[in-house]
Amino acid sequence: MAESCQAAVAAGVTEIAFTDHVDHVPSDLGYGYYRPEDYFAAIEAVRNEFGDRLAILAGAEVDFHSETCDEVERFVTRYGSRYDVVIGSVHYATGGAIIFPEHFADRTLDEVFLPYFNQVQAAVESGWFDTIGHLDIPKRYLPTGRRSYDPLVYRDRIERIFAAMIARGVAFEINTSGLRQAPQTSLPGPAIVRWYADAGGTLITTGTDSHAAQTVGAGIAKTLDMLELCGIEAVASFRQRRRRSVPIDELRPRIPVSG
Ligand SMILES: [Zn+2]
Repeated sequence: MAESCQAAVAAGVTEIAFTDHVDHVPSDLGYGYYRPEDYFAAIEAVRNEFGDRLAILAGAEVDFHSETCDEVERFVTRYGSRYDVVIGSVHYATGGAIIFPEHFADRTLDEVFLPYFNQVQAAVESGWFDTIGHLDIPKRYLPTGRRSYDPLVYRDRIERIFAAMIARGVAFEINTSGLRQAPQTSLPGPAIVRWYADAGGTLITTGTDSHAAQTVGAGIAKTLDMLELCGIEAVASFRQRRRRSVPIDELRPRIPVSG
């Protein structure tokens, strides 16, 4: 955490949320590993060290699936109020199958994406999450040679998710990891953001999905440009689960004016 805070300050990032995974599928390598009290103690330690230079948010990326939702509910009920922000993310398909390239082997794209979007919809409607992580993440794992994902095919499905988000005040994340990985575009990309803005949506968070200090802040400036081009003027930020809106203009580095 200290390394990431240092990297954030160096990159001109003003606010960072540590959203460690909270895994609920027993076959996940992270299952049973999450220790909330140790996490909160670690957050306190970096706040003491970096709090004067950086806003440090306590966050969690909670794995959601309707098959594990009793366990998810237990977690958010017990610990939810101690975080600044809670992300809900879908990583698994039915039966504990992780949505990695092998999952596509004997399935059509519809057979992967439609059940996935159903789970995202359920995550939104659960009311447990402030924002939804990496909205179209299966595209990250499309096997080589089958990179034919076109969000337009799923526009109606995605717009139903947006309707639920807007009705409930749930945001979604622009995850910049896709810019530095195979999709070469954020998760989700500009087309989807534009549909959301056209539907009247305004609640978007940004995240780099940094699993290491080297990528803290990566792709954020480009993402802010993209959001503005799509008609989004502010990003959502959270303190103790309360949302506030930060104008994109305020997030840009100040350009010194001379003469
Ligand atoms: Zn995730």
